[in-house]
Amino acid sequence: MSQYWSDFVHRLEPYVPGEQPKVDQLIKLNTNENPYPPSPKVAAAVAAAGEIDSLRLYPDPNSTALKSAIADYYGVADGQVFVGNGSDEVLAHAFMAFFQQDKPLLYPDISYSFYPVYCNLYGIEEQRIALADDFTIDLRQYLQPNGGIIFPNPNAPTSMGLPLMEIELLLQNNTDSVVIVDEAYIDFGGESAVALVGQYPNLLVVQTFSKSRSLAGSRVGFAIGSAELIEGLVRVKDSFNSYPIDRLAERAAVAAIEDRDYFQQCCQRIMATRQRVTEQLQALGFEVLPSQANFVFAKPSRLPAEQVFQQLRERNILVRYFNKPRINEYLRITIGTEAEMDSLIAALTEILPQ
Ligand code: PMP
Repeated sequence: MSQYWSDFVHRLEPYVPGEQPKVDQLIKLNTNENPYPPSPKVAAAVAAAGEIDSLRLYPDPNSTALKSAIADYYGVADGQVFVGNGSDEVLAHAFMAFFQQDKPLLYPDISYSFYPVYCNLYGIEEQRIALADDFTIDLRQYLQPNGGIIFPNPNAPTSMGLPLMEIELLLQNNTDSVVIVDEAYIDFGGESAVALVGQYPNLLVVQTFSKSRSLAGSRVGFAIGSAELIEGLVRVKDSFNSYPIDRLAERAAVAAIEDRDYFQQCCQRIMATRQRVTEQLQALGFEVLPSQANFVFAKPSRLPAEQVFQQLRERNILVRYFNKPRINEYLRITIGTEAEMDSLIAALTEILPQ
């Protein structure tokens, strides 16, 4: 609280990210980072001769090389791609560009907790739609008057994905407002809606380099949509910050998206570990939701989730616990390396009564 703050700042309710403690030997399974390093080609690109010298110059304000590498990967035109400083920034610009309407924005009641923060920041009216009892998103419930729709696919923190057919059905019946599919976790087994952007000019697909491409520390996110949506985003971006992607981040991201083999190997490895850990958690009495993400959402049966969370923490293993209605009996556990997950399972075997 401060007398110097405007009333508006007093009313803000900022997002609280997962902890990033500075503890040695910590097994960090709480913020869905990738346990594997970025592609070796990223290191080579960032270390290339002249890269550090060039930091005295501003970067390309349009991130042309990166947009073009993303367009090439997804088989879309360069003008259908927008990039930003993490997908959080892309989402922030999209909320401002498309969702300040006279009807409410619709999104799931259990979902990414940045959405209500942006609504609060931009004064956007919101209506949260309850997930079904089995934690699935029922898109039929979104067919009502709205000023926009957003949902993650797969959803966070539930980890469950939606079939593309259901998203297409929504788009066929919702043509007057922008629909954003937040695909932060799509590369771990989901079906991307990028395949639909050519047919639906109101569809914006948002993705990130933070998860499947191991660049959370570099802050690069992007959106793919019709040229008119992208132009709207560029108008907001150029009214905010001309240079959201620094030179090293752009080089790193281009190298990462070009190294398709490495990317695929990493995602496959994480999915294989996810399968194994799911079975081991089930054997320890957990109910595990079917995950298409690089984390699992799991409910222990032998001890309350909060107690399991605390006891893991005492053993230097950090997972995420949300003390919120409907999900306060679950833990969100990021898929780490094989060795990290072995340590998790060993710790749980000790903690949980037989
Ligand atoms: N969307 C979802 C659903 C997320 O979980 C996250 C990660 N916290 C983001 C977007 C933002 O990721 P980033 O800003 O690192 O691209």
